Amino acid sequence: MSIRNADRKHSKKRDAILEVLRSTTTHPGAQWVYDQLKSDIPDLSLATVYRNINLFRQEGLVISVGVVEGEERFDGRVEPHPHFVCGCCGRVIDYDATELPAQFSKVMENLKGTADTKGGFFAIDYRKTVFNGFCAVCVKGNTTA
Ligand SMILES: [Zn+2]
Ligand SMILES: [Zn+2]
Repeated sequence: MSIRNADRKHSKKRDAILEVLRSTTTHPGAQWVYDQLKSDIPDLSLATVYRNINLFRQEGLVISVGVVEGEERFDGRVEPHPHFVCGCCGRVIDYDATELPAQFSKVMENLKGTADTKGGFFAIDYRKTVFNGFCAVCVKGNTTA
């Protein structure tokens, strides 16, 4: 195979991985991305998926949502937005409530009071906030069990 063909094949994988990340709102991990693509791209490896996702992060094309249930999760939606993480099923959900800043100013006031002894205060960037709890499906499942 010529170098040019290898390059084309490489960028095809790269494009496919980015496309999967951008086409879902589930905030998947690398394994999930790999599972979506392996039938279309038989010579794709999980290591290649990891390597490309790391490159996307460095290039600002993908963000990390953090580690959920031992697996790092990623988001193809890069503008800052809060997330809700279910501690039961591991779902990561975009949380776009417009009233959030007002609610958070109250929390920030409380934090200011807490930090008074040090003479400073915390500044909270709500857009990067992760809320932890239980999603509606899991709450329902627990109450009917
Ligand atoms: Zn859940
Ligand atoms: Zn998100």
